This record gives sequence, C-alpha cells and structure tokens, in this order.
Amino acid sequence: MSEKEFYRVGIYLRLSDEDEDKMNKCDDSESIKNQRLMLISEVNKNPNYILVDEYCDENLSGAGTYRPEFERLIKDCEKGKIDIVMCKSQSRFSRDMEVIERYLHNKFVEWGIRFIGIVDNADTSVSGNKKARQINGLVNEWYLEDVSKNIRSAFIAKMREGEYISPFASYGYEVSKENNNKLVIDPVASEVVKDIYLLYLKGYGLTGVAKNLNDRKIPCPSLYKYQKGLKLNVTSNRDRESIKWTTNAIKTILTNELYLGHLIQGKRTTVSYKNHKVKKKDKSLWIRKENTHEAIIDLDTFKAVQLEMKRRTKAKTNLGVVHLFSGKVYCKECGKYLRKKNSARHEYLVCSSNLDGYSDCVNKKSIRYDVLESIILDEINKKINDYYDLKELEKYSLQDKSNNFKSKINALKKTKEELQKQIARNKNSLKILYEDRINGFISIDQFKDLTHSYLDKSNHLTKEIKNINRKIEIYEMKDYSIEKTNLLFEKYISLNKLNKIIVDEFIDKIYIGKMDVLTNSRNIEIKWNF
Ligand SMILES: [Zn+2]
Repeated sequence: MSEKEFYRVGIYLRLSDEDEDKMNKCDDSESIKNQRLMLISEVNKNPNYILVDEYCDENLSGAGTYRPEFERLIKDCEKGKIDIVMCKSQSRFSRDMEVIERYLHNKFVEWGIRFIGIVDNADTSVSGNKKARQINGLVNEWYLEDVSKNIRSAFIAKMREGEYISPFASYGYEVSKENNNKLVIDPVASEVVKDIYLLYLKGYGLTGVAKNLNDRKIPCPSLYKYQKGLKLNVTSNRDRESIKWTTNAIKTILTNELYLGHLIQGKRTTVSYKNHKVKKKDKSLWIRKENTHEAIIDLDTFKAVQLEMKRRTKAKTNLGVVHLFSGKVYCKECGKYLRKKNSARHEYLVCSSNLDGYSDCVNKKSIRYDVLESIILDEINKKINDYYDLKELEKYSLQDKSNNFKSKINALKKTKEELQKQIARNKNSLKILYEDRINGFISIDQFKDLTHSYLDKSNHLTKEIKNINRKIEIYEMKDYSIEKTNLLFEKYISLNKLNKIIVDEFIDKIYIGKMDVLTNSRNIEIKWNF
C-alpha cells in the first residue's frame, strides 16, 4: 500500500460463540458494543486513519453462512472505497481458512487493502504468513536469547576461573598446546615486550619506541601473528609487509597487566544476541584473576613505567595549550591530522603520519606555527576587504530583501496557524461523531456522510499546510544566509590578531600540502565556514 495522507478504515463486527462463553452470559448487543468501542478507539489512536463505514452482522451468532454485511464489505472493498479492513481478530472476519485465503491473501492484495486484527496482531502489511510467522518469530527469539545467555554465562564462569577464552593469545604469549585455556610465554615476542618497557624507561617516547622497533625491522604484533601462520583480519587496503608498530600498539603493551601474569577479561561485550556491535564495559565489570600465567615484566618495572607515563602526559598538557587551529589542520596529501611539535625555538605542525611511526606520507616537512598563523590572518583580512567593497553597493538592497523575507514568513505562519485551528476543530467534531455513533444517537448513514465531508476537508487543509511549510523553509533559508554573512563580517572589519573564536567562526578546515622543492613553497587550502 503506498503512503497516503489518510487511510479509509472499514470496521467489521460479528458475534461469535466466544462471546457467549464469557462471564454472566452478556447479551449480544453488549458484545457488539464492546467490539465497536474497541475498533473505534483503535482507529482514533492513529491520526491518519479515518473511519468510513461500519459493517455489522449482529444477529448471526450461530453457524450460519449467510452474512449480508460481510458481503457488503467485500463489495465496497472491490469498489475501492476502503484502504484498511479492521476486525477484533482474524477469526471475526472468518474462521474459514478458504475465505481467509481468498480474501486476505489474494483479493485484498490485488485491491491494495490491508487487513488488521487487533487482539491477535494479524496484519497483512507484514509479508508472509502472519500468524505462523509471529509465533515462530517469538519462539525463535526466546530460543536464541536463551542460548546466547547460556553461552555468555559459560564464558563468564570460565573467565572467573582465570581461564583464557580467546582463541588468540596477546602479543608475548601463546595459547598452550596442552590446555586451550592457558597462556604460555612466546620466547621471541616476550623479549620484544621486555625491550619496549626498557626503551620507554630509557627516555624514548611512544613514537620513539615505535620508530626504534620499525627501524630494526621487528614485525609488529599483527604481522608477527601472520608470520606464525595464524589467521587474522588485516585491513585489505594496506599491504601486510607495510604494517608497522604504532604509538597505540606501544601504549597498549606498556599498560597491559597481562604481562604481570594477571588475566583481565570481559572488557568488551556485544550489545545483545541480535546486535553484534561491540561495546566497552565499565572497568568495575571487568573480570580479573591474578597470577594465572608466567609474568614477562616484573612489578617494579611495570609500576615505574606507569608513573613515568603519568609524569610525561602531565608535562605535555602543561606545555601545549589547545592551539588556535586545533582540530582544523589536515594533511592535503594523506588526509591525516596535523599535530603540534615543539622545538627549542619554534612550534611546528606536522602530518601525524610521520609521528605515528609510519612514514608513508610524502608531506614530511613541518610548517612553522607562527608562519601559518600570519598566512591565515592575511587570508581572513582579504576576505573581509573583498566583502566590504561589495557590501557598499549592496548594503541596502540586502537589508531590504531580508526584511521582506521576514514579513513574508510571518504572514505565512499566521495563515498556517489558522489552518491548524480548523483541522483541530474538525478532529473534535469527528470525536463527537464517534461518540454519537457509539451511543446510537446517529445512524450509520448520517455518520458516513459527515465523516466523508470531514475527510475531504482535512485532506485539503493538510495539503495546504504542507505547501506553506515548504515556502517558509525556503524563505527562512534565504533570510538566514543573508543575515549570517552580514553579521560575520561586521564583527571583524579588520583584524590584526587572531583568536580561537575568530578562527572557529571563519574557518572550517585548513589543508597543508607538501613542500615543492623547486619553488620552495607549499599549497595551503582553506575551507571557509560560509
Ligand atoms: Zn600526510
């Protein structure tokens, strides 16, 4: 069924044997009244549903096959008067599987009609055999949830026992051949781990350690794993041989308590048995078991490294305040972020590819920070001057246009409010109409007439409001862009110094190209905020 503003709903009511079984043997009329109430309130719940007719085989509670109102419903369906047929349940429509098959699964599909059963959730807009699918779906879901819970709790129990549950060992260890849940030392990689700790304590930074290992052609963990013949996922776009040690890999090794002989597992979990997205778990929920395997690093060395790491980060943050172009400067060659680097005399920005222990970016030469600052200041001033020449000419006309848009928008908004009020009034009358029908104050024919006129009117009003919204949107966009440009440039007629606020307001991104050796210059591209 295609998207419509409104769906015309026909409700079908029928007495059934079930009703008589109910307590106190409620009389027939009471039961029909309840069905009507249930269906009408269901229609009312959905703002896009309009009740257009009611079909009621009231006096036919027996097994009789003659159902005149049912026949009328089918005829109206065929004539295209109805979009949705609604019943208390599929069995109210019919208990006969042949009838169900003929209409719900064939004719209704052909006529573009949707069938909804309220209490049994039957809905032909859900493809396939609804009820069977729903039951199967539920059973499957319970089953899957159960299995997933069992697997999870088995894993958790194992982790609590200090058993290693991953099929792969972390760098420095291997999974024991005798016991799949135990780690043993990898004689080669464990020496590299020791080396990393030593280098760091000698004063190498994270980048320095990575570079040292790369220079010595020591394979990084993923490459090592691959060389040992273990399957692994390697990002396909990067050649395996070019995988190098990174600062991140070094940091992970320097902070991992695994090397002290402790197992910390369950750091991550999947969201649910349906969603395999991995999320990090809170540290307090990690499962920790000490002395489960042989240590590679002694406790004193480990503690010394943690202290040193804290000291160095602190020193770094004291030194490097967030700079003017934080988060805005990128390498034009490889797209990576440019990071700040300090020397004794100057501050520089350099492509982070060159800091990560990789050196695969051609943009090797750093740019002096103060040089970049003066270039950007010039460019901003140029922009402002360009604008002001133009602005002298257009100043008044721009303002005129802007005012014009504002008044247009206001007028449209007023009209829209008026239309919305009309729709609300319409809805209210419909509610009263429903109540009158439930109480039997009006006949079904009167009800139908009134409902139809409501439907036409509401459709018309809704369309008009949509048009107005579209117009308002366009005017607002125009108005906004004019105003924004005006304000931006008026604030900064001429600048002699940059600050973070100005940079943020004017500049989205800055791309720094590589140094051209012939001309001794480089390309700098600015992406403006307007
Ligand atoms: Zn780069």
